[in-house]
Amino acid sequence: MEKVFDSKFLTSNLSGSSLKRYSNISIGSKATYLFAPHTVSELAEIIRTAVQNNLEVVPIGGCSNILFGNVGNRVIISDENLPKICEINGNLAHVSCNYKISTFIEEMKKHDLGGLEFLAGIPAHLGGTVHMNAGAFDKCLSSYVEFIEVIDRKSNLKKIPFNEVECQYRHISVQDFILNVGLRLESKSAQEISSEIGRIMALRKERHPYDFPSLGSTFKNPDGYFAGILIRDCGLAGKRIGDAQISEKHSNFFLNLGQATFQDYKALIALAQKEVFEQKGIKLELEVKVLN
Ligand SMILES: Cc1cc2nc3c(=O)[nH]c(=O)nc-3n(C[C@H](O)[C@H](O)[C@H](O)COP(=O)(O)OP(=O)(O)OC[C@H]3O[C@@H](n4cnc5c(N)ncnc54)[C@H](O)[C@@H]3O)c2cc1C
Repeated sequence: MEKVFDSKFLTSNLSGSSLKRYSNISIGSKATYLFAPHTVSELAEIIRTAVQNNLEVVPIGGCSNILFGNVGNRVIISDENLPKICEINGNLAHVSCNYKISTFIEEMKKHDLGGLEFLAGIPAHLGGTVHMNAGAFDKCLSSYVEFIEVIDRKSNLKKIPFNEVECQYRHISVQDFILNVGLRLESKSAQEISSEIGRIMALRKERHPYDFPSLGSTFKNPDGYFAGILIRDCGLAGKRIGDAQISEKHSNFFLNLGQATFQDYKALIALAQKEVFEQKGIKLELEVKVLN
């Protein structure tokens, strides 16, 4: 293989390691290019080299929404070793992308700042949730974001006011590596925040399967429908291929019962899309990012 990255400059080159360790559903094979930079300049250097060589850059956070197949020559960059920051100024929190959502919510509680409790129970990082414009219970993360700091394709650090970013269902218009996020939070007592987390977690446990790992909702909800209900109504609740299973509790959650492979998961996705299209005439669009 042609040597693209000069290891002299990079202390965080994990190329050749498996992505399974990162995946929330423990599915993943070896990555040709995998990095976990410790500094912003190292991150910028990796992105510059990737772009110069026409290689696609893929940031990863909690990997709670990515299905890893054969990732080919994509340059996978984990946020895990990047400098961790969390600065509070009044109601504004300036936070690095690699904060776990649950840790961040707990941290903010100590400052009587809340609002993001609707995301409690999501095994994600802040950068990933902003990129995905995560939402639940009629709330969306984009309503709380004031700015993002990104490293663009030219490796420049840019601060982008969030009102300049187009936000849609599980999509934002800026596709650069999100380094830090500015969040305008709500003044709330720690007690109020705890009880809201408790309410949300109870709802999630009632509706969603938590006994086996998943990637959350596999498909986006088509306009006017719930993907999970469509899949269930096609008779697929509990359907299993290998060790991948469509949850009986919520049919938009696809579980890894233990040893599921990429092929098992992919076959289950294809089956759900085929049956829903044939039986209901509706095309299910993936919410999960499949890297293959
Ligand atoms: C049990 C469970 C419950 C869930 N519930 C919800 C829910 O209620 N609502 C919801 O919206 N989602 C939900 N999800 C899905 C998932 O948690 C979200 O999509 C989340 O936003 C993904 O964050 P992540 O850090 O895991 O991102 P990853 O899975 O690592 O990445 C997802 C995407 O974001 C990109 N990305 C990651 N980090 C960055 C970065 N720093 N800069 C730029 N791009 C980046 C990746 O390239 C990829 O395209 C759930 C998942 C699980 C397992």
